[in-house]
Amino acid sequence: MTSFRYVIIGAGFAGASTAYHLARRGVKEILILEQEKVAGVHSSGRNASMIRQVVPEPALIPLTGEGASFLRSLPADWPLPVSFQQNGSLLLGSGEGWRRLERDAETARQAGIEVENWSRERARDYVPVLKDADFEGAIWCPTDGVVDIHALLSGYLKGATSLGVQIRYGCAMQRVEVENGRVVGVLTSDGMTRAEVVVNAAGPWAAVVGKMAGAVDVRLRPCRRHLFLTVLLPWADPRWPFVWHDAHGFYFRPDSGGLLLCPCDQDEMTPGDPPTDNRIAELLAEKIRQHFPAISDVAIRKSWAGLRTLSPDGRFVIGWDPKVRGFFWVAGLGGHGVTTSTSVGNLAASLILDPDNRRGEPFSPERFLVTTGR
Ligand SMILES: Cc1cc2nc3c(=O)[nH]c(=O)nc-3n(C[C@H](O)[C@H](O)[C@H](O)COP(=O)(O)OP(=O)(O)OC[C@H]3O[C@@H](n4cnc5c(N)ncnc54)[C@H](O)[C@@H]3O)c2cc1C
Repeated sequence: MTSFRYVIIGAGFAGASTAYHLARRGVKEILILEQEKVAGVHSSGRNASMIRQVVPEPALIPLTGEGASFLRSLPADWPLPVSFQQNGSLLLGSGEGWRRLERDAETARQAGIEVENWSRERARDYVPVLKDADFEGAIWCPTDGVVDIHALLSGYLKGATSLGVQIRYGCAMQRVEVENGRVVGVLTSDGMTRAEVVVNAAGPWAAVVGKMAGAVDVRLRPCRRHLFLTVLLPWADPRWPFVWHDAHGFYFRPDSGGLLLCPCDQDEMTPGDPPTDNRIAELLAEKIRQHFPAISDVAIRKSWAGLRTLSPDGRFVIGWDPKVRGFFWVAGLGGHGVTTSTSVGNLAASLILDPDNRRGEPFSPERFLVTTGR
């Protein structure tokens, strides 16, 4: 039997960044368990790589801002170069959706994030394929961009291991051992490991891992989303920002000489490797035809799907479990886990080491505790 103080389940952005930030604070005896043979097989390796700071949930905005500034100036001892292309973003809106976006932008501005309200004409001059697109105005965020997710994830893991964190790949956690309401270890496919703290960073499996521990019941929903990469498009300018129309549920950005496209589909699935569904390609074509006619008829060369794990109220789940002592959640990162990877890991590490820290209140799993009122 092996023994560690902290066992982190999952080597995606949630687990890797938490380990990195704990280790940077001098914490020893950390083990990451990852069921796959390599890191980034699931959500953290299949996403759109965008750093988006203006988001609808106000509690997330300080975390998105912290995430982007971390990428702009990585710590001096960061182990790898990470490309972060700050092409900016244009968030498009119409009607009530536009008014909501203006409110979101104001919240971001107050949090110190640089944003401008652009007219339709200005946005169309900047990205000419928006010429026939259906929107009323745009929010321009110049410090948004696209990051190399594989380098970023490797950076957290390399940084963590250089500070003594151990990682076991191909090792699935099968049971959380709890005695007298306190975590005492985990049973893995390689045997028992004793632990004082188990960190649930299991992404789409986080609800399953929570159940294994008898923790509070968090109704996390792993929801599939598809991405499509077009063939080379001579007119697609690699300097374009990412363009996102929340109300129409569609975004695109330059990628590999063509465009990466997303119809923002959201179907609940069981945790795992989600299959692609041809009907979503039809949904994508229909959305483009209706709202962005200048980019219709682009041929697709590749598509894939991943899972975004959504919490019931759209806020992350970060904090100590209210039912099982020693069980800590870093889950429900939805569609923002890349942008906020560093701020989530940093917050998790500070809450693990200082349970009285109030910064984590909006994300506390305690909000899912059902009281009977008796
Ligand atoms: C299509 C798509 C586009 C997205 N685009 C963006 C974007 O542009 N910007 C952004 O900020 N976010 C984006 N996201 C969201 C982002 O990818 C996620 O929020 C983030 O990757 C979640 O990280 P995670 O570590 O929680 O989960 P994961 O990356 O899934 O990691 C969890 C890990 O836990 C492991 N695990 C689970 N159970 C066990 C067990 N029992 N034992 C051992 N290991 C276990 C899994 O194998 C997995 O590797 C997107 C997501 C998708 C699907």
